[in-house]
Amino acid sequence: MNFYIETFGCTFNQADSQIMAGLLNENEGKLVDNPQEADVIIINTCYVKHPTEQKVVNRIQRLQEKFPDKKLLIAGCMVEIDPDKLQKTAPNAGWISPHQITSTSHVVKSILKGDNVKLTGSDNSIKVGLPKIRSNPLIHIIQICEGCNGACSYCCTRFARGKLQSYPGDLIYFEADKSINDGCVEIQLTAQDTAAYGKETGKSLSNLINQVTAVNGDFRVRIGMMHPKNMMNDLDNIIHSFQNEKVYKFIHIPIQSGNDNVLADMNREHSVDDFKDIITQFQRSITDISIATDVIVGYPSEDNNAFNDTLKLIGELKPDFLHISKYHHRPGTPASNLNEIDHHIMKERSKKLNNLKSEIALQNNKRMINTIQKVLITSKGSKGGYIGRSNNYKTVIVDEASLGCFVEVEIIEAKSTYLKGEII
Ligand code: SF4
Repeated sequence: MNFYIETFGCTFNQADSQIMAGLLNENEGKLVDNPQEADVIIINTCYVKHPTEQKVVNRIQRLQEKFPDKKLLIAGCMVEIDPDKLQKTAPNAGWISPHQITSTSHVVKSILKGDNVKLTGSDNSIKVGLPKIRSNPLIHIIQICEGCNGACSYCCTRFARGKLQSYPGDLIYFEADKSINDGCVEIQLTAQDTAAYGKETGKSLSNLINQVTAVNGDFRVRIGMMHPKNMMNDLDNIIHSFQNEKVYKFIHIPIQSGNDNVLADMNREHSVDDFKDIITQFQRSITDISIATDVIVGYPSEDNNAFNDTLKLIGELKPDFLHISKYHHRPGTPASNLNEIDHHIMKERSKKLNNLKSEIALQNNKRMINTIQKVLITSKGSKGGYIGRSNNYKTVIVDEASLGCFVEVEIIEAKSTYLKGEII
């Protein structure tokens, strides 16, 4: 049985696809890299933003038109967030919800027999220690917990990923150890919010990082997005765990708005000062730390002053990576009962912030010119060369290198999204 998987969305969702592929592979399935050759086409959906929703729906429609006789299985967040739209888009497809992926082989067998399976809801199974087919053999993703303990007013992801469920630290350790023995050189710890790890079981992210970095070998660990409110009561320990040389000096902490009233309306449960304090403490202890943050432009209660507060914050913070989203209502969220602001105003604000983002990223990267960086090479460039990451997770391109190795590099050129280096 040949299967093809197309994945939308975050690192977490990519890991879900890798597990589905791993399970099918153990049950005599063969992963193919185009839908033509497949008996079953799996679309693992994301539904985080309106443009993503449109992309996902268009893709499902196109695949159905192109391959009307092939079996289609829809997985991912759309299954739980918008079943009505999915029913209209793909009434004959099978469905499997994110929490049911351990049943992938069973569901695929049933739909190949002609059953119309729609497996939704949750069975609380653990996603650690399952077989995976990695998309890059050098990078291993581990899901440390699923769901969240928050209620952000604009977010629909929590309807798909549910209440926080943290996975056992020893299973995570064993999976990390196995991946390094398999030849991986980078481990990505991922979750909807890695800082929430263990909040319901009495464990902590800092301890987990210490456990994973205790695995033998020369490798790097990337820690995924952390919600500020879940970092505050363990901040010293988290910073200490980041000081381990195996951890990329990179933090992804979403702020969403630079205005306290908007943050309160978003139900974020932290203030701008809480966020600034976290960043300052990291910068004091780890001088070359890279900062990634997320901003939503045009939340319904964002007026000009509130937007200017965001611009000011970003100007002061100078993040290395900034993800900007224009606000759109998401199904079933409290914020979707409010009025969206004028889309022209939103567009203008987004443009201003995007310009500032590129300026800052370029300035930050230019400061790295002529410095010597230790770079871990993890992939080949599609247009030639090799791509790696510096210790602070900046993308560095070099002409020649061996995959999976660390190299000493002099930075010779800077763009806003990557650096060019020469091996010394
Ligand atoms: S968890 Fe969020 S970002 Fe990830 S696939 Fe689901 S909706 Fe998309």
